[in-house]
Amino acid sequence: MKKKLSIIIPAYNEEKNISFLVSELIKSLNSTDYDFEFIFVNDGSKDHTLNEIKVQAELHSNVFYIDLSRNFGKDYALKAGIDIASGDAIITMDADLQHPPYLLPKMLKLWEEGYDIVYTYREEANPHVKGYQKLASNLFYKGINAISDITLENGISDFRLLDQKVVNELKQIDEYEIFFRGLVKWVGFLQIGIPYTPAKRHTGEASYSFFKLAKLAIGSIMAFSVRPLYIATGLGLFFSVSALLYIPYILISYFAGYDALSGWASLIATVAFFGGLQLLVLGIIGSYLGKIFLQTKHRPNYIIRSTNLGKTKNDLIRV
Ligand code: UDP
Ligand code: MG
Repeated sequence: MKKKLSIIIPAYNEEKNISFLVSELIKSLNSTDYDFEFIFVNDGSKDHTLNEIKVQAELHSNVFYIDLSRNFGKDYALKAGIDIASGDAIITMDADLQHPPYLLPKMLKLWEEGYDIVYTYREEANPHVKGYQKLASNLFYKGINAISDITLENGISDFRLLDQKVVNELKQIDEYEIFFRGLVKWVGFLQIGIPYTPAKRHTGEASYSFFKLAKLAIGSIMAFSVRPLYIATGLGLFFSVSALLYIPYILISYFAGYDALSGWASLIATVAFFGGLQLLVLGIIGSYLGKIFLQTKHRPNYIIRSTNLGKTKNDLIRV
């Protein structure tokens, strides 16, 4: 029996890319010896993305859709697809054709050779992004590698192949905040990364704004590390030890006859500095506390509005 591939594609306002993507993927996959299915996850699109997917589902019996109840974000859309996919391997890729389908045969070959995870990373800085975005992206990867326990290649992408046994592990993960690139590294297994040069977006605009990206970056780092809390503790320790050393210095200066009481401005500066530092540290602690609060609610990662996958609704909304 042929092995089956499930290709999961999160889509948010991608109406003009769907039919082109399906035809490109069919072209690349027809030359391989696998059965394959496409699972589009419509992440609360405001345009006609869902209709476009439905048109493809009418044309091809192996095109399926999961329509989420609202926009949950790409990682959550991916989780919805992964929870439902049943292929021997699953491939996740973007709907905008930035992830080149011609890499698929190479990824499949590596899988057949025994790798459980074949992921991709940008060969060089994406030629289609602006200077400040490159800088922010570099900072993000440096930051997450420095203060968390996983190491991500600069420009690691969501274009990847996962063996069924990896998918089974990912399905078990019950986390409020999901950052797939990190999770996939974290699960381990036999992994290999291949470089790729991203294509230009087929049509439309990338939907992540600067603030959405910044929020995502901080959230991702916090989801993978409690080291900011240790940094806060270290900072507190450093300043309290320094303050302790300062007291004997004042006393000695007083008895030695120096005027230890001058320096009003520097006193105010120091008080303001420590006030700020305490708020910062409280903020860090509070953010983790907030995440615990959200996690304890055990809300589902996503809600499905409708799907044409042949399972009962209850099966699908188990999460
Ligand atoms: N996407 C999504 N939900 C969102 C934002 C994006 O499912 O809230 C999808 C989008 O349709 C695309 C992929 O995630 O298939 C990558 O999005 P985009 O091209 O905007 O980001 P970039 O290429 O900058 O990573
Ligand atoms: Mg894109």
